[in-house]
Amino acid sequence: MKTATLSEEFGSLVFDDRAMKARLSGEVYRALKQTIKQGQPLNPAIANAVAAAMRDWAVERGATHFTHWFQPLTGVTAEKHDGFLSPAPDGGVIMEFSGKELIQGEPDASSFPSGGLRATFEARGYTAWDPTSYAFLKGKVLCIPTAFCSYGGEALDKKTPLLRSMEALNTQALRILRLFGNKDVRRVSSSVGPEQEYFLIDRELWKKRRDLVYTGRTLYGAKPPKGQELDDHYFGVIKPRVQAYMEDLNEELWKLGILAKTEHNEVAPCQHELAPIYTTTNIATDHNQLTMEIMQKVAEKHGLVCLLHEKPFAGVNGSGKHNNWSISTDTGVNLLSPGESPYENAQFLLFLVAVLEAVDEYADLLRASVATAGNDHRLGANEAPPAVVSVFLGDELTAVLEALEREEPYIGSEKPEMMLGVLTLPRFLRDTTDRNRTSPFAFTGNKFEFRMVGSSNSIACANIMLNAAVADTLGRFADRLEGVSDFDSALHALLLESLRAHKRILFNGNGYDDAWIKEAVEQRGLHNLRTTPDAMKALLEKKSMEMLIRQKVYTKAELVSRYEIMLENYCKTIVIEANTMCEMARKEILPAVERYACAVAETAEKKRALVPVLGCGYEKHLVEKLSALTDQIEAGTVEVESALASLATIADVPELAESIRDLLLPKMAELRAAADEAECLTAKDFWPFPTYGEILFG
Ligand code: ADP
Ligand code: MG
Repeated sequence: MKTATLSEEFGSLVFDDRAMKARLSGEVYRALKQTIKQGQPLNPAIANAVAAAMRDWAVERGATHFTHWFQPLTGVTAEKHDGFLSPAPDGGVIMEFSGKELIQGEPDASSFPSGGLRATFEARGYTAWDPTSYAFLKGKVLCIPTAFCSYGGEALDKKTPLLRSMEALNTQALRILRLFGNKDVRRVSSSVGPEQEYFLIDRELWKKRRDLVYTGRTLYGAKPPKGQELDDHYFGVIKPRVQAYMEDLNEELWKLGILAKTEHNEVAPCQHELAPIYTTTNIATDHNQLTMEIMQKVAEKHGLVCLLHEKPFAGVNGSGKHNNWSISTDTGVNLLSPGESPYENAQFLLFLVAVLEAVDEYADLLRASVATAGNDHRLGANEAPPAVVSVFLGDELTAVLEALEREEPYIGSEKPEMMLGVLTLPRFLRDTTDRNRTSPFAFTGNKFEFRMVGSSNSIACANIMLNAAVADTLGRFADRLEGVSDFDSALHALLLESLRAHKRILFNGNGYDDAWIKEAVEQRGLHNLRTTPDAMKALLEKKSMEMLIRQKVYTKAELVSRYEIMLENYCKTIVIEANTMCEMARKEILPAVERYACAVAETAEKKRALVPVLGCGYEKHLVEKLSALTDQIEAGTVEVESALASLATIADVPELAESIRDLLLPKMAELRAAADEAECLTAKDFWPFPTYGEILFG
């Protein structure tokens, strides 16, 4: 795409506002916009008109099918294609797509996880159009973003609770804005800009590694002599092949209306990052799912593979997603941005303190929202945030809150200009915050950056919890402040109280430091939930459940089902990894090491045939070591296999997950250690698959 045509091509595959305006009658367009903005139901006549316009638009662009595109709890997106063609009475075909087909679909849902929901309620699921996220074209298919529910209305997907959480946040934030005298704002929504990290590796090398092919991460692999010590990759020169990939990827994303902005090399070799321009959480989530899909597709075209796993290589930086989150009004005000007037600043402080309280109260839920088998390898290892949730505010804002807490005026770098009752506030400057990249939840001037999300996770879960927790806190604040006679004093007292109760969550230091983890757990009583089985329990905590139910984000049945499904995913993932390890050990590693040991022994024999007095100490030594290692690898494999066999008898999912963590994972680590040692001793030509060095520096 030439730059000159960028504006034409941008969003060319999206039935966006431009397309709607051009193709819908004024009346239909206004009704649809009303639905999008205010969440009002769409009447059937309007739906028919929208469907017809959408179909014509898609067919003109070569579409033959349509699909309800949704996000079941498998973590990937799903679609079921239906043709536009219907038989016509005259024996030919006509292009059909009704309002009913646009609004509701009925995919065969039995293959998607429901955690018992469908068994309890209804066998089938249905999809419902989400008009707030634009329809788009993927090849010859018109994709309609939809929510996926059971017939009882129980959510079977990630979009439904996300939309509910946005609604909750809207409701509670509006109450607060009204208290500050704001009558114009009609809607408050959360926005997200997710920065996506990923690895790009050569496809031919990838094909040769069963672990990468089956599980997305390396299950074996000795450390190469050169790692990321030199930091020479960060913002390094992007290699031409990667550059071509990025250009191609940008084009594909732009056509889908996804404005990918910066792409630079990350710290690890072969690691890169993509940042889109932020948008409404709901659309950002759809876009991020699409982005991940397209990243992988485009890589294939370039002879590359895009790895989205959180920890594809042990000992090398993992990949995450930085979930940049803010709340703003339909009048264009970012509520996490300090304002110009005293009232705006007081309002900013209220929202800020509400976020702190929410994160402290529901830190375990936030941790649970990013818990997966893959992310367990990343959190707390090599340049990733720890499993302990804390908030970074930066020096200036921290000083402001400390002054507030001491009930003293804040004397900042600038003279205090803003006054409200006893609140004396400085004029905050947008970029005064120093960057702390070790914090899991950092304030970056006008937004919070939640860095614990895993690179392959949907961002939905994290934002559902964040929106819900903040909505709940704002609701509590509104309950306290509505109807008071002296608003300023009541506000001041409330902020003070909340701050005192929740300041333990604030931490501006180095989050990677072991001393911090100790302090966090022992002195501050913060959670350190290291693994998914530990973290997922938060979903069933009474306090969390009550909050999520109160905010109408989840029902109890939905939470219980999600808990089961997430743990099931955890179990399945690790069992597949363990099976893959055994297969690689038996079919590739052991035969290779044997062949090499044999070759060494033959060499010694030949040498001795030539010069009988030779001791062949080196060969003997090596064969001895290799034989010991093959014994160890075999024993390790047997251990993993028997652990797998004993786990197969556990039916209770939470118990299975804990046993996998406590019994299987350590055995897998032992097997790996033996194999990695063997790799270091085996000649290059004999090793059966590409090494870390070849993949990362090849
Ligand atoms: P960096 O964090 O590297 O300094 P930026 O701050 O420019 O980069 O943005 C990082 C990401 O945060 C981008 O995806 C950007 O769109 C997003 N972002 C910027 N402002 C907001 C906001 N108000 N709300 C949500 N996301 C935002
Ligand atoms: Mg960032």
